[in-house]
Amino acid sequence: MSEAGRIVIATKNKKKLYELKRYLEGIKAEIVCMHDFNRTPRIIENGDTFRKNAVKKALVVSKFVSGLALADDSGLEVNMLGGKPGVRSSRFAGPGKNDKENNNKLLRLLKKVPLKDRKARFVCAVAIADNGHLVKVVESNCKGLIAFSPKGPYGFGYDPVFLIPKYKKTFGELGLVVKDRMSHRSKALKKAREFLKRYL
Ligand code: IMP
Repeated sequence: MSEAGRIVIATKNKKKLYELKRYLEGIKAEIVCMHDFNRTPRIIENGDTFRKNAVKKALVVSKFVSGLALADDSGLEVNMLGGKPGVRSSRFAGPGKNDKENNNKLLRLLKKVPLKDRKARFVCAVAIADNGHLVKVVESNCKGLIAFSPKGPYGFGYDPVFLIPKYKKTFGELGLVVKDRMSHRSKALKKAREFLKRYL
């Protein structure tokens, strides 16, 4: 590894970066973000799976900055919609649309669907590459239901409509303490951490 002890996180999403950094706390490496660099590579996320997109991001960034890069690709899969929005989660309502518009589209599509048929899961794939070579890919998910309306001030993306049956509350209401314990990202990062502890 040319830049010993440094991991570059390949994401533009500040809230995701915040979560990722928390989950990597204690790792013996400096955690920096791709956007701490003056120039950044343009990455087109056109894979049809989270895994493919995470691998692509990690490989491109690890070549560009030289050293270790960690990328996550994640999103929501709704059973009733055949797995949509899936890899298009961030742009479900169209290019340039925000989280609120994505949530509104989802709720509109599920308008007449009863709670028992609103099953969904968040999926997260994490890829780690070192100088242009893929060294690890892990995946995890978190199951829940889609609420009938957005609730709660916390989190980002679909958190306000993602209902955790055990608590009868959304991730938007529950906040990071609960999300940290059970989310797709925290579980995937736990596996990535174990790998990094051995690898670094
Ligand atoms: P990515 O940046 O291409 O991985 O896009 C991920 C998109 O999936 C986000 O913009 C959100 O819409 C959604 N998403 C992924 N993880 C979460 C989460 O933890 N909470 C809420 N929405 C999420």
